[in-house]
Amino acid sequence: MTEIEVLGSGREVGRSAILVSGKKRVMMDFGVKIEPEPPKYPPTEKVDAAIISHAHLDHVGAAPLLFKKGKHPIYMNDVTLELGSMLIKDSMKVARNEGFGTPFDKTDVKRMVKNTKIVRYNEKFNIGDFSCTLWDSGHIPGSSSILLDGRKKIFYTADIQSRPSNLLGACKLPDKVDILITESTYGTKNQAPRKSEEKRLLEAVEETIENNGVALMPVFAVGRAQEVMLILKEYADKIALDGMAKIASEIIGEYGSYIKNPNGFRALLKRVKFIRTNEERAAAIKKYPIIIASAGMLGGGPAVRYLKEMQSLKGSKVLFSGFLVEESPGKNLIETRVFENSEERFSVHADLQQIALSAHADRTGLMDIIRRTRPETVICVHGDKCDEFAKDIEKEFNIQVFAPKNGEKIKV
Ligand SMILES: [Zn+2]
Repeated sequence: MTEIEVLGSGREVGRSAILVSGKKRVMMDFGVKIEPEPPKYPPTEKVDAAIISHAHLDHVGAAPLLFKKGKHPIYMNDVTLELGSMLIKDSMKVARNEGFGTPFDKTDVKRMVKNTKIVRYNEKFNIGDFSCTLWDSGHIPGSSSILLDGRKKIFYTADIQSRPSNLLGACKLPDKVDILITESTYGTKNQAPRKSEEKRLLEAVEETIENNGVALMPVFAVGRAQEVMLILKEYADKIALDGMAKIASEIIGEYGSYIKNPNGFRALLKRVKFIRTNEERAAAIKKYPIIIASAGMLGGGPAVRYLKEMQSLKGSKVLFSGFLVEESPGKNLIETRVFENSEERFSVHADLQQIALSAHADRTGLMDIIRRTRPETVICVHGDKCDEFAKDIEKEFNIQVFAPKNGEKIKV
């Protein structure tokens, strides 16, 4: 008997944690939900092994916690370890500054790194009687779907994109699985065609430059920052890059095998201005019409500082390009035109736009993934409307579909 327990990401976006128990207990992802504050963690479990799909905090951010209960291998690829440890260390700093702290410390992070086993895409490794492989999921550099092949073939999409982007190719899929655990971020929504959204972004930037304004793009450091720079490559000399997005970009340039055109990307990075000091930061909005800065949901980072400074300029824009979690400062700003965090509150006069450049498959893409993998059972996770999406899948494919809440167990 195999049991799948959703410990986090059940009917929510954030803190992904899925425990598969057969002869061994395998944790797939162990993330933190950072927005809205305070951060929320999945319950800690004793496991035999863990596998991390990719370097976003909602998938890796709580992984050090798993080492409070003992020593065991944790599998991921090299770029995920590098980017993931960077994000975890930064999140500890942020949590400390905001007074939340983290339920793990530096020793736990070190233990995690020491017990990491690096695996490449399609390289087989065994955990108990599961033969495991990572599949390129097309979401961010290094992102993986996870296949556990045992008595049943269990495929966890993690965050997945079925369409290629400027940075990455489309996801790769096995042609038949038994159980599909699918993300549901856009399970009930289709996205505007990618090309037309890229055009909207280019037009918005062009208009900003004509008006001598500033376009601020709050971005996720890993994945989105690099994709946006590639779309805006003709304007590379006019771009200032700030926050964690800088180190993330350098790491991604270094681990070039995970992206489509490593040489082109490295050349692009040389043309973009990396903001390193407070003096440069203070001068940036006068010198650079395009500012790409983390954090993507305006939960912190230099993006917030730029947003505040921009208020004195006419013809400015804030261009969001990623998923905004309910109640995050970014989402609230779009809805109310007021920015608010624990320290400050101000009205924003700039033109606010959302450009759909999602790194997640939309509804059509997710349905297509189900069609191609031909599962007998689907489990929907990582979405605000998992239950609605589950009903739609049931109708379309006439198969068994679950949308478990956190803590629910499914026997397969
Ligand atoms: Zn992600």
